[in-house]
Amino acid sequence: MIEIKDKSKCSGCHSCMNICPKNCIEMKVDEEGFWYPEADKEKCIKCGICKKSCPILNDMSIQNNPKAYACYNKNEEIRKESSSGGIFTLLASYVIDNDGIVFGAAFNQNFEVEHIEITNEQDLSKLRGSKYVQSKLGNTYLKIKNYLNQGKLVYFSGTPCQIDGLLCFLCKKYDNLICQDIVCHGVPSPKVWKHYLKQFSLEKNASILFRDKSTGWDSYSFTIKQKNKFTQLFNNNEYMKVFLKDLCLRPSCYNCHSKSLHRNSDITLADFWGIKEVCPEMYDNKGISLVFINSKKGKQLFNKIIKDIKYQEVDINEAIKYNPSFFKSANIPEKRENYMNNIFNNQFDKYSKKYTKLSIWLYLKIFMYKILSVTNFLKD
Ligand SMILES: Cc1cc2nc3c(=O)[nH]c(=O)nc-3n(C[C@H](O)[C@H](O)[C@H](O)COP(=O)(O)OP(=O)(O)OC[C@H]3O[C@@H](n4cnc5c(N)ncnc54)[C@H](O)[C@@H]3O)c2cc1C
Repeated sequence: MIEIKDKSKCSGCHSCMNICPKNCIEMKVDEEGFWYPEADKEKCIKCGICKKSCPILNDMSIQNNPKAYACYNKNEEIRKESSSGGIFTLLASYVIDNDGIVFGAAFNQNFEVEHIEITNEQDLSKLRGSKYVQSKLGNTYLKIKNYLNQGKLVYFSGTPCQIDGLLCFLCKKYDNLICQDIVCHGVPSPKVWKHYLKQFSLEKNASILFRDKSTGWDSYSFTIKQKNKFTQLFNNNEYMKVFLKDLCLRPSCYNCHSKSLHRNSDITLADFWGIKEVCPEMYDNKGISLVFINSKKGKQLFNKIIKDIKYQEVDINEAIKYNPSFFKSANIPEKRENYMNNIFNNQFDKYSKKYTKLSIWLYLKIFMYKILSVTNFLKD
């Protein structure tokens, strides 16, 4: 029977809940707002299948030979709406055009994030763009298994731990399954996200952009599009600051088992943050994707979209130098426990500011750096 004694060893992938033959596992929300499995001791028949489907209890490591590419979608509109270079939309469109089903993360009507299935092009906009909140999978793995067994082509997009969860749940290889993960900094608590949103009167048709690129890709904004629009540069927005300072990530994200150069997905998508250094001729501040092709299946799909992208192969070791989230888990900030213990009893922005403000030393360092840059510029 699955029992979570150490929260850092559960990514909340829902695999155990999906596989239980007695339906006796429920995903319960803890005080921080993260899901953990809880088995009904009365109903459990101790078959142990839940433990066999856990991607953390089982070794998921592999060795492969990934290739890295800098690329972006030639369609400027889609690229603008996407977080990086808009590659996800092209891959997913190909699957839909071939009568396939795409699973990815979307907002529901309460602005919570959950995985949904899409079978037509128009609905792809629901999945487009990063949502910096842990996405609820529910019974997604069971639905995928059903489609796979019917011979349908399925594309699953998620965090690396969600991919590992799916593959461990399926327990066998399917030729009609394509897995695409993202490079993941870590997933914030859905409860913290809900708490942040309390300060807004959200209209039913509001759209929330974590990565509004109208202010540039590398100086993006957090925007709520509605009659009463709200927009803030990411480094002025308290939710984004709390996320990027690792204050509200899931405990397992500080010891991620799925980060590696050798991934179980067919394709990995990321922001190419080092583009100015590695491939400066492609940089235009509109969003460049770093794409890893991890398998033969991934390569075949990538070849199908090649006419619609601008791309260049790059040295994989150079590329990941600028993207530590690729292989390194976030460090647990000393202040995390205190922050998570008190945030829900306080007003979000006011309380978070105490944790996100620059220390006097860092402030002075930035100030000195700016003074030196101006002095050097004047000298030249
Ligand atoms: C929580 C999170 C952390 C990230 N951290 C980094 C990072 O540190 N470094 C980096 O280079 N890139 C990171 N990314 C990935 C990056 O932001 C882009 O999502 C990725 O490069 C794909 O961009 P795109 O332009 O091709 O497509 P987009 O259209 O921007 O990507 C959409 C895809 O992302 C998936 N997605 C969105 N939100 C979630 C979610 N909450 N959970 C699971 N899947 C989701 C959707 O299902 C869809 O498939 C992160 C993404 C998320 C969601």
